[in-house]
Amino acid sequence: TTFEDLGLDPKLLAAVRAAGYETPSPIQAQAIPHALDGTDVMGLAQTGTGKTAAFGLPLVHQLLTQQGKPEPKAVKALVLAPTRELVNQISDNLRTYVQGTRMKVNTVVGGVSINKQVQILSRGTDILVATPGRLIDLMDRRAVRLDSATFLVLDEADQMLDMGFIHALRRIAPELGTPRQTMLFSATMPKQMEELSRAYLTDPVRVQV
Ligand code: AMP
Repeated sequence: TTFEDLGLDPKLLAAVRAAGYETPSPIQAQAIPHALDGTDVMGLAQTGTGKTAAFGLPLVHQLLTQQGKPEPKAVKALVLAPTRELVNQISDNLRTYVQGTRMKVNTVVGGVSINKQVQILSRGTDILVATPGRLIDLMDRRAVRLDSATFLVLDEADQMLDMGFIHALRRIAPELGTPRQTMLFSATMPKQMEELSRAYLTDPVRVQV
C-alpha cells in the first residue's frame, strides 16, 4: 500500500512526503481506509508504530472537506492523551500534517498558565489536543465549547484509565457534537477498555499491529 492508494487529500500527501514518510506503517495501512470512511476505530498499538498519523491523517483529511473557520471557543476535533509530553508529541505531528492549510492545532495541558489557554481557545480551534484534567477546568470556566466537535480521539487510553479517565470522559463526552467519529488507541486491552469501547464507540473496526 502507498499513501496515494489510501486516498488522502493531495495536501496531506505533500505533508507526508515532506515529513519523510515513504510508505504507510501497518497500523496506518489498516486504520486509515476505515477512518476515512467515518468508521469508529479501536486500535491496539504501541508508541512508535505510527499511530498518531493513523488517526491524524484521516482527521485532517475529513476536516479539509468541512467549510469555514471554527467559531470562537469552539473545537472541531478533540484528541485526549494522558500526559503533557504526549500532547506535545501529538500536536507536533498534527502541525506538520496541517501545514499548507489554515487549520489551527491548539493544546491544553496542566502545569502551565490557564489564562493563556483561555485566550488561545477564544479564537477557535480546529484540532484540540488535551489532557482530560485541564480540559475539564477550561470547560468549568466556559472557555471552550465542544458541541461542534464531531471527532474524538482517545490516545493511550489504557494509560488514561489509571488517572480517573472514566470519570473525566463522563463529563466530556456528553458535551461533544453528534454524529461523532471516535478513535481509540491503546497499547493494552484490559477489560475496562472493552467497557469504554461499548460506551463511547459505535460498531468500531478493530485494528492491531
Ligand atoms: P508514533 O507511533 O505516532 O509516535 O510515531 C512514531 C514516529 O514515526 C514519529 O516520529 C512519526 O513521525 C514517524 N512516522 C509515522 N508514520 C511514519 C511512516 N509511515 N513512515 C516513516 N515514519 C513515520
